[in-house]
Amino acid sequence: MATAGLPTRLAKEDVISFQHVTSCGTATAVSVPCMFSVLNHDNYNAITARHQEGLLDVLEHAGIDVSWKDNDGGCKGVCDRVEHITIDPSKYPQQCAEGTCYDSVLLDGLENKVRNAKHDTVIVLHLIGSHGPTYFKRYPEKFRVFTPTCDTAEIQDCSQQALLNTYDNTIVYTDYILSRIISVLKTNDLQHNTALLYLSDHGESLGESGIYLHGLPYDIAPAEQKTVPMIMWMSPSYTEHHNINRECIVKNAENKEYSQDNLFHTILGMMSVTTKTYQPGMDILAGCENGTAH
Ligand SMILES: [Zn+2]
Repeated sequence: MATAGLPTRLAKEDVISFQHVTSCGTATAVSVPCMFSVLNHDNYNAITARHQEGLLDVLEHAGIDVSWKDNDGGCKGVCDRVEHITIDPSKYPQQCAEGTCYDSVLLDGLENKVRNAKHDTVIVLHLIGSHGPTYFKRYPEKFRVFTPTCDTAEIQDCSQQALLNTYDNTIVYTDYILSRIISVLKTNDLQHNTALLYLSDHGESLGESGIYLHGLPYDIAPAEQKTVPMIMWMSPSYTEHHNINRECIVKNAENKEYSQDNLFHTILGMMSVTTKTYQPGMDILAGCENGTAH
């Protein structure tokens, strides 16, 4: 997310960016169910995952209010038994065109939902993010900060630089969306001990070695498709309430290798859910409490 010379919004927030994170699959349809399953990359099987309780089921059974709001073509089964909200593009004419919406639609109602939370709450926002090949449709005009851009789905007709610029603009826009979400969480920190975990489903090839898009079989996919951003923001009251040693996590974020397999256990840990499926060794925050040796 570091774009030389461009002051990013998240850089001004107290976020922790994990530097070495790999995905479970190289496509949305594999990575999303895998991320929310107790199965991991090495033993993931779509049929087994479908017939098991997923992360959102476990959270709901623990009495947590769970909801899923979608702007990327559905939750691939992982939110079937919890509240899920699908965006109706006709409700947002300024933010949607031809059935596809900017991720700003996910912010609608968020402030209310967070402010009025009565119980422990997990809100999943499924961003369309940087999904291509129509990268130019992912952001409004004022986020077109890198030019020239590739304003077509026929990305092979664009110069490499135009393609990179367009992709970078999608990152500028996601930076904005995440900063808006953090702003909502900050406003409600004192009452609700808020935190955010952002994780991408897969990476993207942008012409490296002549490869584009994503979805190559995992074993032959290049690193660009299997390396993903993971960003965490924890409010001061969340950090204090959970006795978190921030320095410990910052250090781990720089040095340790993580993957989407960590999501399941980290969210259970963050929500203090006790269940036999929870593995502390897979929880990014476990072992980084104040007063413990690491
Ligand atoms: Zn995807």
